[in-house]
Amino acid sequence: MTAPVPVANFLRTQIERDLAQADWQPGRRFGGSPGDAAHHADAPADPAAIRTRFPPEPNGYLHIGHAKSICLNFGLARDFGGACHLRFDDTNPEKEELEFVEAIKEMVQWLGWSWEHAGCSHLYEASSYFDFMYRAAESLVQAGLAYVDEQTPEQMRANRGDFTTPGVDSPFRDRPAEHHLARLREMRDGRHADGAMVLRARIDMASPNINLRDPALYRIKHAEHHATGTRWCIYPMYTFAHPIEDALERITHSICTLEFEDQRPFYDWLLEHLARLGLLARPLPHQYEFGRLNLSYVVTSKRKLRQLVEEGHVSGWDDPRMPTLIGMRRRGFTPASIRAMVEGTGTTKSNAWIDYGVLEGCLRADLEGSAPRAMAVLDPLRLEICNYAEVLGEGFDACRAPAHPQHPELGERHFSFGPLLWIEREDFAESPPKGYHRLYPGNKVRLKAGHVIECIGCTKNEAGEVVAVQARVLPDTKSGTPGADAVKVKGVITWVGAHEALPAEIRLFDRLFTDPQPDSGGKDFLAALNPASLRVVQGFVEPALGKAEATSHWQFERHGYFVADRVDHAPGRAVFNRTTTLKDNWSK
Ligand code: ATP
Ligand code: MG
Repeated sequence: MTAPVPVANFLRTQIERDLAQADWQPGRRFGGSPGDAAHHADAPADPAAIRTRFPPEPNGYLHIGHAKSICLNFGLARDFGGACHLRFDDTNPEKEELEFVEAIKEMVQWLGWSWEHAGCSHLYEASSYFDFMYRAAESLVQAGLAYVDEQTPEQMRANRGDFTTPGVDSPFRDRPAEHHLARLREMRDGRHADGAMVLRARIDMASPNINLRDPALYRIKHAEHHATGTRWCIYPMYTFAHPIEDALERITHSICTLEFEDQRPFYDWLLEHLARLGLLARPLPHQYEFGRLNLSYVVTSKRKLRQLVEEGHVSGWDDPRMPTLIGMRRRGFTPASIRAMVEGTGTTKSNAWIDYGVLEGCLRADLEGSAPRAMAVLDPLRLEICNYAEVLGEGFDACRAPAHPQHPELGERHFSFGPLLWIEREDFAESPPKGYHRLYPGNKVRLKAGHVIECIGCTKNEAGEVVAVQARVLPDTKSGTPGADAVKVKGVITWVGAHEALPAEIRLFDRLFTDPQPDSGGKDFLAALNPASLRVVQGFVEPALGKAEATSHWQFERHGYFVADRVDHAPGRAVFNRTTTLKDNWSK
């Protein structure tokens, strides 16, 4: 893939500085797969200049916030000659589901990335490190750096202290290492109930950083794991597992979101001790934090997205209004537009709110040059050409237009003019407002890529609604024929011939929430749901669209960019999603 010009950020600066250091690279070895110190010890120099990773928990579908992390990690690896690992952080039993694993892989690839580097596939599962993690736990206990605490959860909480009060040492803390080792083995062997005890690091109960007040490393959980089954009944805590995963994989730059900043001292403490104990290879990974991506009018918490799906506020994880990557793909977002948005909005040390319009701008920039044009009528009104036979005789009159005004190589579209057409309801007014240049009795307009017509009247039903408009065609005015411009008109309208138009279901979306920050400050995000976020209309499209492949992109003139729906569009049933309108509607 072509790399956009990278936007400078503190992580790039950091990596450039690291790579410029003479003694940074030489000590780094890589044993071809993740492993402990011995595994990497005699291995060749690491072929990857840096190693980053994207470590999703396979407990939901990826969303636009994840795209930020994906493009950042894979993008840095690409730009600096490194490798980026895709690691499923599946250390938590029960919660993970296999369906998410496949979906995550598919989305990373859809975004254009690969976890292959130097002939090696770097697709990993954190649960495959459980044996090492347990070995590390025993070593820490033996070194007096960890202990089994049998206080109740309430006692532990009370003894942790708070920002102003130091914590209190557990009465179990200073027992001999052999005692704790025996207890840890009992925990592992299933001799104790969930919550009866935990393994904790032995650091400092008075540390001003509460994360260093003897954090929990392992807990008892008699639960089946999707990969390891019932082999384990103790599971590592995230704060223990994550640094180890990074170190086993020889990650150099472990990039995470800002909320982990206070965890960094423990990250370093743990890895430093495990390296000193000879379990982990040096140099050790470093953690860097960046501000998460927030998009206006969008929620990105997996829990809240799940709630939207489970409570039926949307049709599923791939509902085109969802900020999940599968939803955005179905809506018609392109990988290039998502990459451009996340790479273009920069990476900083603060949690930024990005305007949704920025994403739409990237999408339009990507589709403008590539999406073929077509005419579609979304709110059809019948137009009768009363003098058709007199002027054009029998049969239909062939018309043509370029598939793309700037790209003649994309060819031409063919359609035809006839005595009955569909036009947009809003293109007729019985009594026109000031400045209205479209159809009204006595006015002339050009049919786009067709003839000039003059409106002569309309037909109404009993309710007084206009059901048809009558017009006459002016001879010798067809676009692209000599003298066609002799008649000057102020308005051009889009149309499709009723004799050949393809009926289509067209889904029009608006933002899912009416509040730009639907879930900030503990607000009830459901209260901000937009009741009019989906409108389905039955319209008509140009006959050429009968051949539209599912997932193909189009610009329907004046209406915006559309994609043939990947789920419901099929031969005999045309279904289009509006990806976005032509210009920024969001600020209105
Ligand atoms: P959620 O809060 O939605 O459950 P998560 O962070 O728990 O998200 P993970 O599967 O653990 O979900 O995330 C994988 C990676 O994606 C993590 O490194 C996380 O920091 C990153 N990530 C998640 N959301 C965002 C975001 N909004 N901006 C940037 N990175 C994000
Ligand atoms: Mg998480």
